[in-house]
Amino acid sequence: MRRAMVLGNWKMNGRRADAVAWARAGAALAVALPGIDVGVLPACVHLAAAREAAQGSPLLLGAQNLAAWSDGAYTGEVSGAMLADCGASHVLVGHSERRHVLGESDAVVAEKFERAQAAGLVPVLCLGETLDEREAGSTEAVVLRQLDAVLARCGIASLARAVIAYEPVWAIGTGRTASPAQAQEVHACLRSAIAKRDAMLASLVRILYGGSVKGSNAAQLFAQADIDGGLIGGASLVPDEFAAICRAA
Ligand code: PEP
Repeated sequence: MRRAMVLGNWKMNGRRADAVAWARAGAALAVALPGIDVGVLPACVHLAAAREAAQGSPLLLGAQNLAAWSDGAYTGEVSGAMLADCGASHVLVGHSERRHVLGESDAVVAEKFERAQAAGLVPVLCLGETLDEREAGSTEAVVLRQLDAVLARCGIASLARAVIAYEPVWAIGTGRTASPAQAQEVHACLRSAIAKRDAMLASLVRILYGGSVKGSNAAQLFAQADIDGGLIGGASLVPDEFAAICRAA
């Protein structure tokens, strides 16, 4: 039985006071919902403030990105070890905004995945197709290629300390959600690809869905057999909406 997880990706939003208020709300939710994992992913400059605000609660803290290198002469970068030192236990790798706006390749995502685990962080590996790729019928090929790039570098066993998030690019921040059936189809495809290499791991790895999840559509998505929770962007900035999504999980 996989434990449901809901992570709020705050993206590049909020000031310190917002991070404190959102983290307090998240901490209260994590306490009220002991049957699921609730986590928030502030901008890294707000990690310490969020950690302080959530102290003593089971709220998970994560980062949205990490450097593809360990500490050293990489001006402006933040290493996995630094994020862990600030209280992060999880980190996103391969979010579509980093792949498509900032040009991160599958190879860079795989390097970051490896760095995250080396720093003791749990990588949340984001996979997803663009609208053109979906319309061309290549959704499964794209997400499997993205997954394979990580497995080729880090090995199948690395999934024991990772979370996967399927996030169709066309559904992120657009208000357009994949239907529960569309999402389930991709989640099942990912799980069966993993099962071909390691059936036990496939049954244990959590695959979250992300893309315009709201309080009103979360329950139907999370009811699907292979959807183990959500990665939530915009709605995670609205405490009542985030709470409704967590309750649906
Ligand atoms: C995201 O950024 O990971 C995301 C899913 O965003 P939204 O919920 O706003 O679509």
